[in-house]
Amino acid sequence: MGFCGRIKREKELDYKKLQEKMVKDQLIRRGISDKRVLATFYKVRREKFIPSELRRDAYEDFPLSIGEGQTISQPFMVALMTQNLELKGHEKVLEIGTGSGYQTAILAELSEEVYSVERIRSLAQKAQGLLKRLGYNNIKIFSGDGTLGWEEYSPYDRILVTAGTREVPLPLVEQLKEGGIIVIPIGNLYSQDLKVIKKEKNRIKTVIVEKCIFVPLIGKYGWDEGELSG
Ligand code: SAH
Repeated sequence: MGFCGRIKREKELDYKKLQEKMVKDQLIRRGISDKRVLATFYKVRREKFIPSELRRDAYEDFPLSIGEGQTISQPFMVALMTQNLELKGHEKVLEIGTGSGYQTAILAELSEEVYSVERIRSLAQKAQGLLKRLGYNNIKIFSGDGTLGWEEYSPYDRILVTAGTREVPLPLVEQLKEGGIIVIPIGNLYSQDLKVIKKEKNRIKTVIVEKCIFVPLIGKYGWDEGELSG
């Protein structure tokens, strides 16, 4: 009995070590410097969001499959997107593409409340159950087309889109507060630019941060599902 217990604890310890190594080698070394962001990546256990058969790769430097043809983004990409949201703690955040819920948990640690929309119902339900079990009570998840935003709780201080599309969905710009920030991958199906968009005095200022590859944002103001399978 004691033996089993010890093996279990050693396994958990390993994840902690891998997590610390990930933060140092993949995030700090590549320029993630926001202290609150780094503290959150030390805190949130990524392996909890990974299907058991891939869990050993939880802290590796690449995206992983989460089922339904979708992926959990590479840790660095999650950190880069988060850092560019410039969260201070009081924000209301809209996330499009809940997926595994890992990024959602990161946002919930760093802001006041998170509203997250996921197109695939089974993923939305799974993430909702997990985030609740982990004790988050400042997250609301909705299953539907996130290219329409989530009007009921708008306007938002920050909007993060975790799937790629050709142009910024108009409803998202409309649901963003004056002075707010949208982080979104914009490009074609195979490669995108991670863009940071600021809405200031009703003008839009855009900065490109990094090249990236995301799964497609499918919806009214994104890719057409028929277009993808055909
Ligand atoms: N942040 C997630 C990323 C998941 S991949 C994570 O790290 O786990 C992107 C997600 O966007 C997928 O789950 C996909 O189903 C979802 N998605 C695609 N189009 C969408 C849309 N129009 N509205 C909401 N979610 C969408």
